Amino acid sequence: MPANLIPKFGFESPFARQLEEGFPWLKFRADLEPGFDEAHFNRTLPFVRGALYIGLGLMILFFAISLVRGYPVDWLAGFVRFGLLLPAFVAAIVASHLPQHRRTFRVLIAMTALAIGSGYVVLHLTAPEETLQSSFSGLPVVIAFVYFTMGMFMQTAMVLVLGITTLYVIGALLVGVPADQLAHNLGVLIVANFVCGIGSYMLEHALRSAYLEGQILSEMVERDGLTGLYNRRAFDKYLTRVWAVARRQKKPIVVLMADLDYFKAYNDTHGHQAGDQCLQKVAGIVSAAARRPLDFAGRYGGEEFILVLFNVDPESATAIAERIRNHVEELRIAHRSAGTGPVVTLSIGGAVVEPWDTTHSPEGVIQLADQALYKSKQQGRNRVTVETIADVHIKTGVFEAG
Ligand code: GH3
Ligand code: MG
Ligand code: MG
Repeated sequence: MPANLIPKFGFESPFARQLEEGFPWLKFRADLEPGFDEAHFNRTLPFVRGALYIGLGLMILFFAISLVRGYPVDWLAGFVRFGLLLPAFVAAIVASHLPQHRRTFRVLIAMTALAIGSGYVVLHLTAPEETLQSSFSGLPVVIAFVYFTMGMFMQTAMVLVLGITTLYVIGALLVGVPADQLAHNLGVLIVANFVCGIGSYMLEHALRSAYLEGQILSEMVERDGLTGLYNRRAFDKYLTRVWAVARRQKKPIVVLMADLDYFKAYNDTHGHQAGDQCLQKVAGIVSAAARRPLDFAGRYGGEEFILVLFNVDPESATAIAERIRNHVEELRIAHRSAGTGPVVTLSIGGAVVEPWDTTHSPEGVIQLADQALYKSKQQGRNRVTVETIADVHIKTGVFEAG
């Protein structure tokens, strides 16, 4: 994704900002981290579960091999296998089938990683003399397993793996592994940590970038490319949502539709590019009017804008619409072929509805706002008309101007 993504967007995207700011420590801002955490968990869970089953299978296989080969089965190895590793694997596998318990799963996975690491260290260090060095070679594999298959963030995996490495060194000193052999093995572990750590960092960085890019793309699907306002698709989704909220809370909704006056003539006289710039400037004014969390500003069509205000009375709605109309006029964008005067102007139609009234519908409020806009146009343009429910008849859920 290009670095100059944000100016290109024309809208404020926390994901684009994070992508541009970077995340060298593999951590997003506090408001974005939980979303990634959840997405990462859901995406990796089936793979981690598969890895756990494979890990459990391998453990049983190795046990079977050692039985077949007739290695002595001492109580310590038995405890590690059946008292430590088996319960750890089983607990993590069970938790992986309960995806709603994300926290528990994370803790269990970390504990399983520790159990695998420390269990392997114990098995290795207590192995018979002749297999001591050959069994060491499994430890770097354990490290890779912890880094790459358990769905942990790089930093968690690194802390756990360093813990396992430390445990190995302490254990090796206690058991009395010869110094040159210990130095060699430690070197191998450090290299394994380093290689897996870098790989794990790159992997998580790529996953985080892909997450941000995916979020940006889904934001873009809801945006208008020219103005950065929400598009029609986003409006339809939003209206259904806000309608339900307003009905529950018994709060009125105001829909304002705004349409530039004589805009075809503006394009014809000043050119299409000037028309585009004009639309961008007007979009800035419309957008600034949607100030509260449940308000909405969008581009409804070519040179039509839509603004939805939550919990606003008709008087305030009219005042807000009037302010928008006035601000557009104040832009003083020269319009040589307008019937309204020398500058670009805007007509607005508004509808106030009470969604908890079962005779009101989302389609009806749009129709009512459209009719109010038509009135503003008819009455000379560059003006505001706000209809309330009392002004119209209602026919099967849709409004009809009275
Ligand atoms: P009225 O005052 O009745 O609204 O007249 P009008 O000319 O604005 O209305 P009409 O719907 O006939 O024209 C809308 C014009 O908006 C037509 C089109 O050229 C222009 N338009 C629509 N989308 C864009 C756009 O993305 N860029 C530019 N530059 N112009 C656009
Ligand atoms: Mg127009
Ligand atoms: Mg129009």
